[in-house]
Amino acid sequence: MPDGQLEPRISAEQIQLRIAEMGRAIGQDFPEGGRRLWLVAALKGACLFQADLARAIDRDTALGFVRAVSYGAGTESSGSVMIVNELHDNIANADVILVEDIVDTGRTARVLLDHLAAHGPRTLRLASLLDKPSRREMPIAIDYRGFEIADEFVVGYGLDHAESYRNLPGISVLQL
Ligand code: 5GP
Repeated sequence: MPDGQLEPRISAEQIQLRIAEMGRAIGQDFPEGGRRLWLVAALKGACLFQADLARAIDRDTALGFVRAVSYGAGTESSGSVMIVNELHDNIANADVILVEDIVDTGRTARVLLDHLAAHGPRTLRLASLLDKPSRREMPIAIDYRGFEIADEFVVGYGLDHAESYRNLPGISVLQL
């Protein structure tokens, strides 16, 4: 069962307004009539963001899924990232956007971007709802970024703590 105190940070309305802007920007960068556009979500955290972002893009968009886990307990990851669900779609020569919930140290995004790059997409970009730049351990270019946040542990809108809180419509800081 969930425990800890929630302190609201980003409201559901703010999230949806920002996603509408991100969807418009992606639609302008990849207009209909070009190649197939794939949104590949990093499970589990990015599933809600992917669903809303896809509906904010005014063109045909394909959906894919990958999952990486990083080993470590609690709110700190240990640093070793392993892909547990590989991509099973053919994205060769397509335009591909990796959809992340949050880029923290950048290790997960690095591993997943390398995994997708090995499938031979024509273009590969990164969309992340949240960015914690103060924690970065390696340079990661975020092409479509929702919000920059401080070094705080957040939950909601797909982000969990021990599998709780993912279905909250907004994002809150969790004080344990
Ligand atoms: P990175 O590999 O960039 O350090 O971490 C990325 C992953 O760590 C995210 O996909 C997410 O699962 C987890 N993570 C990092 N910061 C937070 C946070 O503030 N809240 C939650 N719930 N997960 C986080």
